Amino acid sequence: MHGSPRSGEVPRATLALKSSFTIGLPAWRGSTQSRAVWAGNSKGVCDTKNVHAADFWLSGLFRVLRALLISLSESHFLRTLAEESSLGRRVSTRFVAGTEIEDVLRATELINQKGATVSIDNLGENVSQAEQARASAQIYHSLLDTLSSRGLQANISLKLTHMGLDVDEALAYQLVSGLVAKAATLKNFVRVDMEGSAYTQRTLDFVRQMHRVPGHQGAVGTVIQSYLYRSENDVKNLVAAGIRIRLCKGAYKEPPEIAFQRKADVDANYVQLMKILLTSGIFHGLATHDERIINQAKRFATQQKIGPESFEFQMLHGIRRDLQQRLVHQGWRMRVYIPFGTEWYPYFMRRLAERPANVFFMLRNLLRA
Ligand SMILES: Cc1cc2nc3c(=O)[nH]c(=O)nc-3n(C[C@H](O)[C@H](O)[C@H](O)COP(=O)(O)OP(=O)(O)OC[C@H]3O[C@@H](n4cnc5c(N)ncnc54)[C@H](O)[C@@H]3O)c2cc1C
Repeated sequence: MHGSPRSGEVPRATLALKSSFTIGLPAWRGSTQSRAVWAGNSKGVCDTKNVHAADFWLSGLFRVLRALLISLSESHFLRTLAEESSLGRRVSTRFVAGTEIEDVLRATELINQKGATVSIDNLGENVSQAEQARASAQIYHSLLDTLSSRGLQANISLKLTHMGLDVDEALAYQLVSGLVAKAATLKNFVRVDMEGSAYTQRTLDFVRQMHRVPGHQGAVGTVIQSYLYRSENDVKNLVAAGIRIRLCKGAYKEPPEIAFQRKADVDANYVQLMKILLTSGIFHGLATHDERIINQAKRFATQQKIGPESFEFQMLHGIRRDLQQRLVHQGWRMRVYIPFGTEWYPYFMRRLAERPANVFFMLRNLLRA
């Protein structure tokens, strides 16, 4: 969605780290040939045993790296250190639009000019003081006003723990409710992001309660993660209540008792849930950069005669810009999630964890700088 479609992205041709390792699982997307190169002997002859050993070794390495990155994303010490350093801020621009409201508004305008809509996230989560929550809500109020006055095509995404859920649930409800009421008046929309599983039920209860308030219908929705076993039930319940859903795979580390661990299972569940959403008659968002799943969704929609105006694809700022643009050109709806703000560290670390190869490219770029 930007001038140079793939600038700033990890070069996909890079062989060794091409594995798009997600959800803590081996996810070789490389061809048999590329796998053979990895394990090829000095004569260039493929050795299948070595291929499997290399796969096994690498997937193990990425699994450990992913777990490490997610646990580092929760470190308060590293968060403070990173967010206060100029080097950290420079690195964060890989996934974050900037620190100021004007930065994200500029990015939104550019994306709109390219034919896509936006969801703006004022970064921050797990606040420990009511004042922080109030300040964040105030930023969202200003955003909603400015989006409306400048005619920008964007809604807002927020996290309940940023609105003070851990501090005072009643306050969080009051703050989010105020934002949903304003969004409803401005014919805009508030998306409540989904956080780790400790918050799943509370988030769903919260959104359902908010959606029941007269005038709020259609102005608030939430997110479902396909890695959770419970998601099929949650999707059915939300759809029955007419609530808009963003479907994603899930960005946190969840245990096998509650979540699929194999990428193939997470993906299969995504496709199954996607079909429920597309046939529900409600406008939902399919949030993924997974081209295979996106192609399945396009095929399914076409077969079922579900028009492109009935749902949207969603992707993150700075990831697969080429694909974002291609979908727009093909006539599909595309929404780009753009985060901004000073509290970028946990968000940034989760993006690294989704694709540990990003760590190596980030380090390489830092060394070059
Ligand atoms: C709009 C949007 C909103 C989201 N909201 C939430 C939320 O509220 N709660 C939540 O838990 N999760 C959320 N996520 C994150 C999501 O759960 C996944 O962690 C993330 O999207 C990666 O999964 P994927 O579907 O792209 O598939 P994957 O199989 O992980 O990736 C498919 C391909 O996408 C590209 N890719 C994916 N991630 C990256 C990356 N970080 N860097 C570079 N390339 C990458 C690679 O080419 C990869 O091969 C959101 C994602 C999007 C797009």
